[in-house]
Amino acid sequence: MKTIDDFNFENKKALIRVDFNVPLDENFEVTDTNRIEAAKPTIIKVLEDGGSAVLMSHLGRPKGERNEDMSLKHICGKVSEIIGVQVKFVADCVGEEAGKAVASLKAGEVLLLENLRFHNEETSGDVEFAKQLAKLGDIYVNDAFGTAHRAHASTTIVAQFFPGKKCFGYLLAKEIIAIEKVMRTGEKPVLAILGGAKVSSKITIIENILDKVDHLIIGGGMTYTFVKAHGGRIGDSICEDDKMDLALSILEQAKAKGVKVHIPVDVVAASDFSNDAKTQVVDVDKIPDGWQGLDAGPKTLEIFREVILKSKTILWNGPVGVFEMEKFAKGTISVGNFIDDATQNGAFSLVGGGDSVAAVKQFGFQDKVSYVSTGGGAMLESLEGKTLPGIAAILEG
Ligand code: AMP
Repeated sequence: MKTIDDFNFENKKALIRVDFNVPLDENFEVTDTNRIEAAKPTIIKVLEDGGSAVLMSHLGRPKGERNEDMSLKHICGKVSEIIGVQVKFVADCVGEEAGKAVASLKAGEVLLLENLRFHNEETSGDVEFAKQLAKLGDIYVNDAFGTAHRAHASTTIVAQFFPGKKCFGYLLAKEIIAIEKVMRTGEKPVLAILGGAKVSSKITIIENILDKVDHLIIGGGMTYTFVKAHGGRIGDSICEDDKMDLALSILEQAKAKGVKVHIPVDVVAASDFSNDAKTQVVDVDKIPDGWQGLDAGPKTLEIFREVILKSKTILWNGPVGVFEMEKFAKGTISVGNFIDDATQNGAFSLVGGGDSVAAVKQFGFQDKVSYVSTGGGAMLESLEGKTLPGIAAILEG
């Protein structure tokens, strides 16, 4: 795996695909700078080597048309502030003007290209457009994990024009290593905690992960499809009746593969889907009609605690309750705390994909786990066992 550390950028121009798709407020101020900060080490490495950096990114979904609201010029000041270098800007990502701006770029300087998605050719993965982009750098660096699952011009296609001169940036390399640790090289016992709303959206992950883990915790709304499939009474809890056979087959596959599955035994049931609902703790298979399970119960959390604390590698995807409502956030917060303890005891913990990242940030766990993935869709596809085109394009050499 070639990373940015395998190259010396002295007098070279690095064409870096970053993910600067950041949120802006009504005054076009950046409201969350995480993604810019995450790209900083890669940019600094290039500059410190004595090279220059040409940054390319998308912002929002302009659908192939110029849209000033989605111009990357709005973030130029913030990027300059974070990188510590006055960043230059060019109002197109290809063409004569972009070519001139790159040609006049000196060592130590940074140029930000305009939003790639002002051109339809970006998302269609157009080869000619990728060739135009490729003229803007000597070495291609991909540091955008959030778009690594897309075969777009700047994330994948452009790489073919840099044989032997392409690599992963630090951020993308960290993501790849974190996934590797969970899926292949992690110390045993390996545990996956899968929560969230629906079995249907997690099924491919579950099936893929059964070959990699020793323990599987199933929590959240998914629980009830499994419980009902076993003949339990789930009241008005969320359930996918058409996925009950699948749930049973997952449990059989797990057994055959020697994976221990832990499903909640008790739940916090609510009279409504509301933070003002009445609540009671009941056995997971005896939820009265008119009530719905919205969080893991105390006995369940004790079981989860034991499993989490004895694991050496932990993947967490999906909350174990409706954490957005304070009344049903306890289970998810507890799981975060247990993972924090396990991590302090030396376990490697990765949180990734969709709402689990939101939960981790909401409750301030991001510094307590080993790694929080920066890519929702890209992480989910990795966990499903898919090869991401943006990663494959670099590995092809
Ligand atoms: P996902 O995007 O699949 O990870 O699902 C996350 C969503 O699942 C969150 O918005 C949670 O509120 C929701 N969720 C978790 N547990 C339950 C539950 N018991 N009933 C309904 N929704 C749930």
